[in-house]
Amino acid sequence: MSVALKMSSLYAPTLKEEPAEAEVASHRLLLRAAMMRKAAAGIYTFLPLGQRSLRKVQQIVREEMDSIGSQEMLMPVVQPAELWRESGRWDVYGPELARLKDRQGREFCLGPTHEEIITATVRDELRSYRELPVSLYQIHTKFRDEMRPRFGLLRGREFIMKDAYSFHASQESLQEHYEAMAGAYGRICDRLGLVWRPVEADSGQIGGKVTTEFMALAESGEAALVYCECGYAANVEAAEAVLPYVPRGKTSVPLEKVHTPSVLTIAELASFLGVDPRQTVKTMALRTADGKLAFLSIPGDRELNPLKADHLLPGAELLEETDFPKFGIHRGFLGPSGAPEGTFIIADRTLKAELAWIVGANEPDYHLTGALPGRDFAVDVWADLVTAEPGDPCPTCSSPLMAARGIEVSQVFQLGTKYSKAMHATYTDESGAEHPFLMGCYGVGITRSLAAVIEQHNDEAGIVWPMSVAPAEVAVLPLAVGDSEVYPAAEALWSELAARGIECVIDDRDERAGVKFADADLIGWPYQAVVGKKGLADGTIEVKCRATGERSHVAVSDAVAHLCGLIEAERSRFAAR
Ligand code: ATP
Ligand code: MG
Repeated sequence: MSVALKMSSLYAPTLKEEPAEAEVASHRLLLRAAMMRKAAAGIYTFLPLGQRSLRKVQQIVREEMDSIGSQEMLMPVVQPAELWRESGRWDVYGPELARLKDRQGREFCLGPTHEEIITATVRDELRSYRELPVSLYQIHTKFRDEMRPRFGLLRGREFIMKDAYSFHASQESLQEHYEAMAGAYGRICDRLGLVWRPVEADSGQIGGKVTTEFMALAESGEAALVYCECGYAANVEAAEAVLPYVPRGKTSVPLEKVHTPSVLTIAELASFLGVDPRQTVKTMALRTADGKLAFLSIPGDRELNPLKADHLLPGAELLEETDFPKFGIHRGFLGPSGAPEGTFIIADRTLKAELAWIVGANEPDYHLTGALPGRDFAVDVWADLVTAEPGDPCPTCSSPLMAARGIEVSQVFQLGTKYSKAMHATYTDESGAEHPFLMGCYGVGITRSLAAVIEQHNDEAGIVWPMSVAPAEVAVLPLAVGDSEVYPAAEALWSELAARGIECVIDDRDERAGVKFADADLIGWPYQAVVGKKGLADGTIEVKCRATGERSHVAVSDAVAHLCGLIEAERSRFAAR
């Protein structure tokens, strides 16, 4: 299908001014280049140029899903509460889930994800091991009432996702499809022109244990990553923390109680005692889901990883200071030694080292020095509790970890039987016995991916689209629309290119050359074909490559073939493999 657009009739009101609300390049440029407009916080309208690019992202995703045998379908945005009650997520999802009632007072929600609907859809009809595996996907609108919608499409409230769900009778089958999905996700990133990295991740609200996130590397990314030359990479939310061992002299020192009046923080403690904060222990008090007191103790110089804490004590909450007296504990002086009777103590495994630690004495204005694990404090669970930091030894090879930032464009999960068990979705095996399905789920942020492409491909003048997602492939820019030779030559080039299947736009507006150049650079057409009076006098036009800034003069008679060659080369760079 040929695509021939005219700027004069294209609805593309570009903006000269920087939009004040935009903090990152993609947000700014999506607005300035007339790709989208804001409807409300985190909710956007896509204008024709934005929709053209979005459809290209969707098409790439579609091709890659089809290539691994996932089948496209479409599920509702509005979902009945009963299904969410069955899975148990109605009560745990929190305010991100937008809930509504119909005129009869029945409860619904706007789908933030579709595990419930898909499981309910297949459970009545997918029955036998013979029909498995099955993989289904959709490309559709999601709604999550994010606490802080920001950065335009990077964190919206309404956004487009490709979500796929698979059903299996064996772990091997799930593993195989999971790997096929991960392969497809890598190819999607490549075809979008992204610089990316797969990382170990936490599974968050979705559930399951085996999961990988695909990160587009960008300074503006919300995700902090650690990685190593050996290939290890993880979201710091999930990264295993291996703390550097800090040797320090004699360990068989006696336990001593020291007076530390009003010394509340680790920094104050270290300076009061004149010690390295790495010798101290920081202890946090939590109320467990069943109302008991729990202590989490970690090396004083490190930060608690809240996700790791949550996995160990699901539903526990940090204790408010006002509740401390109820439990007989004292802010600033908590510690694993001499904790109130019955306190559940989890300590970071680093504290297991036979080193003398400085801990709170569980008594106002006192700390203990020389506390040894085993001798002076007992621990119920040793665990990995802290957030990994750059410089820590890599969990795989022990080299120092490096830091990067990323935009999570997609994620794959092995869900196991979490939803199938809760929702009684079963199949029968060869012997007629019933089992819950093993499930996987897999999501690509379509709108977030589009923004990630722009985060990685832009300059001062505007967007620098990879050919695969540009709203069109080439723009013909006649510099004098009224000229008797210039416009006809430009129009001939434009229609000839379109006839050859090139996506082509002509800037037929009666505007100054400067305006046309600025808009072409802002919108980011991969190639510009500039038709001017001077060039035509020599029988040439100028071809500019947006990405490299390279300009070449091409004979008018060769222009179509030359541009077709350039565009074919770019197309094949991003083609399906
Ligand atoms: P995040 O951690 O960034 O909130 P998530 O892990 O909750 O995302 P998933 O449930 O894994 O997101 O959803 C799959 C994909 O949907 C994500 O990888 C991301 O690309 C996209 N996505 C999720 N939330 C948003 C959002 N608020 N705005 C735009 N895209 C989103
Ligand atoms: Mg995710």
